Amino acid sequence: MPDQQPSWTLVIHGGAGVLERSRMTPELDAQHRAGLDAALQAGASLLAEGGSALDAVEAAARSLEDNELFNAGRGAVLTYDGTTELDAAIMDGRERDAGAVTGVSATRNPISLARAVMEKSPHVFLGGKGADQFAQEQGIEQAGRDYFDLPLRRKQLEELKAMGADWFDVDMKFGTIGAVARDVNGHVAAATSTGGITGKRWGRIGDSPVIGSGTWADDRSCAVSATGSGEFFIRAAVAHEIAARMRYLGEDAQAAADAVIADVGALGGDGGVIVVTPAGEPVFSFNSDGMYRGFATPSGRTVAIYGDE
Ligand code: ASP
Repeated sequence: MPDQQPSWTLVIHGGAGVLERSRMTPELDAQHRAGLDAALQAGASLLAEGGSALDAVEAAARSLEDNELFNAGRGAVLTYDGTTELDAAIMDGRERDAGAVTGVSATRNPISLARAVMEKSPHVFLGGKGADQFAQEQGIEQAGRDYFDLPLRRKQLEELKAMGADWFDVDMKFGTIGAVARDVNGHVAAATSTGGITGKRWGRIGDSPVIGSGTWADDRSCAVSATGSGEFFIRAAVAHEIAARMRYLGEDAQAAADAVIADVGALGGDGGVIVVTPAGEPVFSFNSDGMYRGFATPSGRTVAIYGDE
């Protein structure tokens, strides 16, 4: 952890889940760390020049969306029908402006579409065909099926189908990505982007794009991005609950995050959150074996995967 009150802070995650050293090859370990570090660099270079928390979380999220190792953008997991349904949300802590999309099929960087919803529409949350149409009208970069249709994701879907299991029974590695930042002006922002869960059906929506569940930013408390079994994170209203505990109970960010993750665990859910406060304190809390994660301040960048790091 940094000493105290850094002038800017960026915190990221690349998903939480069953992440144990024994299951990871040295190559995959190194590739994930490099991907996290590249995302930190993308956001930190903006913050170091006095850029906004909002720009930084978008830049970090785009970097992770472009990396096929993570379950967002290019690397998004596939639905039961073998299609891609992307969810993303972004929130600016200054005025609690927010934008979110769900069930988007062809946008290369859904986080930038969420930002366009926030800045270029009167709405907060767009879904499905309408969100795709809005993306096209806004000139947001689109990608073809083959961009998203990766062999690893197809294999994961086939394995799931072969087990005849629904996703609750599967030994999942969540790979959703997220970023929270505090800029030199003391403002916070949050971004979260995901393909959801392998084999999802019926237009299922997780917590990631739901403002207050997977994503929240409010200069009066903190910015939060979550990852994990989304149904439980929605039921616990995770991101807003952390902020509310800080505001109303006066808890510090770590205590608030730990309490809410314990609540998720009590309901039967797994996963974690990243949090940053307006003072620039980076916080991690998760009840899974590990969480792809990292943070950057003017003192440097740090990444980690396993629970004991
Ligand atoms: N929270 C995401 C969802 O339920 C999954 C994840 O974090 O990987 O859609």
